[in-house]
Amino acid sequence: MEANVKHAVLVAVLGLAAVIPGMRISAAPNPAAGVDRLYVIDCGDGSGSDESRWTPGANVGTPVGFPGHCYLIHHAQGWFLWDTGIDDAVAQLPNHERVFHEWGPGTGPTWRKPITLAAQLEEIHIKPADIKLMAVSHSHPDHAGNVEMFPNTLMLVQKVEYEWAGSRQDTVAFNKKHPVKLLDGDYDIFGDRSLVLLSTPGHTPGHQSLLVRLPQTGPVILSGDVAHFDTSF
Ligand SMILES: [Zn+2]
Repeated sequence: MEANVKHAVLVAVLGLAAVIPGMRISAAPNPAAGVDRLYVIDCGDGSGSDESRWTPGANVGTPVGFPGHCYLIHHAQGWFLWDTGIDDAVAQLPNHERVFHEWGPGTGPTWRKPITLAAQLEEIHIKPADIKLMAVSHSHPDHAGNVEMFPNTLMLVQKVEYEWAGSRQDTVAFNKKHPVKLLDGDYDIFGDRSLVLLSTPGHTPGHQSLLVRLPQTGPVILSGDVAHFDTSF
């Protein structure tokens, strides 16, 4: 199974690179070989019956899907987890799904979680305590659902997102006891430019993206939900 995961990693790294309009990416050679592995993890997926909920006036009545991934990255200084996906508890529900009604019945997507994050970490022999640092792109439940699976892992989050989370039904409030480093803008995680958090507000007030410089592929941006056209905030 580990081989499958690693295969998925390479495919995903090459296929999921998302360039944010207006964002400049240095074409300079990788400044450090700090990152040597990246695992793409299935963190659940969502679906909605009407895409125009997220694209007002366009694609009315068209079904829409939301693939969800987490990324476990190995750096010379330790493991880093990007996003945590839909709450693993959803995997225990009938049909492994839950509907989040954002503004009343019928307004939210259905989230599915057939396989847990915990099970996938076990497959590659990683325990939550092994992960040194973590960050979530934002506080929506399909990204921040399993933060407390890693109660001792330092979380990097934009200060404005940390304070905003929990203010709406469709966000996950952060546990104030969780170790956290609050950010105000871009942040070079290990100080070698191999993993850089980018402040990309809009989808939520403190949404952030992750720039990863991989030796094999050059810079890749994991963008959370920043590419969505969304008027909910
Ligand atoms: Zn979102």
